[in-house]
Amino acid sequence: MTASSPSTTAAPAGPEAPRQTVSLYERWKRIHPLWVSGGWQTWRRVVLAVLVVVFYVNPWLRWNGYPGVRFDLVHRQFTVFWTTFVPEEFVLLAWVMLIAALVLFTVTVAAGRVFCGWACPQTVWTFVYFTIERFIEGDRTARMRLERGGWTLERLAKKALKLSIWAAIALSISITFLGYFEDLHELLPRILRFDLSKWEKIVILLPALGSFVGSAVLREQVCFHMCPYARFQSVMFDHDTLIISYDEARGEPRGHRRREVDYKAEGLGACVDCHKCVQVCPTGIDIRKGLQYQCIGCAACIDACTDVMASLGYGKSLVNYTSQNRQAGKKVHVLRPRLIGYSSLILVLLGLFTFALDHRTPVHLTVIRDRNRLYRERWDGEVENVYTLRIQNRAKEPRDYRVVVASELAVAYVGPEVVEVAAGSLASIPVRLVLDGEHAASAVTSEVRFGLRSVAEGTVEGEGIAIDEASRFYLPTRSAP
Ligand code: SF4
Ligand code: SF4
Repeated sequence: MTASSPSTTAAPAGPEAPRQTVSLYERWKRIHPLWVSGGWQTWRRVVLAVLVVVFYVNPWLRWNGYPGVRFDLVHRQFTVFWTTFVPEEFVLLAWVMLIAALVLFTVTVAAGRVFCGWACPQTVWTFVYFTIERFIEGDRTARMRLERGGWTLERLAKKALKLSIWAAIALSISITFLGYFEDLHELLPRILRFDLSKWEKIVILLPALGSFVGSAVLREQVCFHMCPYARFQSVMFDHDTLIISYDEARGEPRGHRRREVDYKAEGLGACVDCHKCVQVCPTGIDIRKGLQYQCIGCAACIDACTDVMASLGYGKSLVNYTSQNRQAGKKVHVLRPRLIGYSSLILVLLGLFTFALDHRTPVHLTVIRDRNRLYRERWDGEVENVYTLRIQNRAKEPRDYRVVVASELAVAYVGPEVVEVAAGSLASIPVRLVLDGEHAASAVTSEVRFGLRSVAEGTVEGEGIAIDEASRFYLPTRSAP
């Protein structure tokens, strides 16, 4: 057997026993979860529905002409909660991501895998695809029967309908996702007219394929084998982290019984071994075997067992949200060092972020020198340097800026005196500095400072905006006379 082989050959037990090939990989068994209703599932479905609506609606929303979230790669502007950042402010955007990651860690320490079961995009879309599947093919038993049966006309028709709707959903997800990078108001009409470039088609089809394969077909396999967060989040758990757990003390010994018998007198626990908690599980595990990394904390097994216990009059569910300490009857700690540490860090970062946001300048100026020529000598001896002023107006209204130049040299500025920049936009203005021929021979290079001053209704420096950016002015090298 080679090192990469997925199977191995077992040694024969005796001289006549045939050699047996044993696969090192577990066969993928399709999971057909049973639909379950109940308190947790109602809340969970509300949360999932809200997330789906937010995802679809957000790219269309405008607040004073701004999208809520947009990563405009072409114009290099990143808008998060109606605040636009430019690449120079990437550190602020990194802070937002850091704070979001810390919030996720804090939630995990406190409530375990609640993100996985209630808010992860993979869970959300798997639920959407699964709901469509259930609507077309029926619930668990009908789906399993359909799967086991041959390729009848009914099966073909149902599969074709399901796959077509899945494909349409995947495309809608992909197009909406693109709306977080491009303006959907402009993109969607072009999509409907099939007026797309090759790259746009690829950018739409690839995420659609990813969603179709990942969330509709592979489902729980993505959580098991592809998601890195599923693997490392257990190290954040402590004995007070909320987990979903089976009450072994009440449930065991499990076993079937007649409804009218006193199960305690028969030496049985409350678990009737009905397997409902296993049948509803989207990852196909048996929570009665203890906490497993495959459990995404969706709480479906809680609702399933609640139903069973209620129908038998046995009291509350055997599966519940609890913690290891609570289960062992030990003292429960709501405030723990790790929780306090993460929360304090979030507060500090939020404070610093708010301060930085509040103190950031509402305009940004970048001066780019002409990269092709350091200077240009004119026929009359004058020397000119060419620049591009990139003015980023971060304000939510259009602004006028007066351009000023300061230099030791007597350079003349050739360009617009006042530049108007639309709200949240970037203007690139080519300008020139010209030095009289008489002065041109005296130096090789000198610092020049470009500045912007705000211009409010008829008054100069109306809002006190004053920013400067240094650059260089180059002159020809001349030998002494
Ligand atoms: S649903 Fe409850 S009673 Fe049924 S097998 Fe699971 S734990 Fe036992
Ligand atoms: S064990 Fe329960 S909570 Fe965990 S994934 Fe399965 S149904 Fe959801």
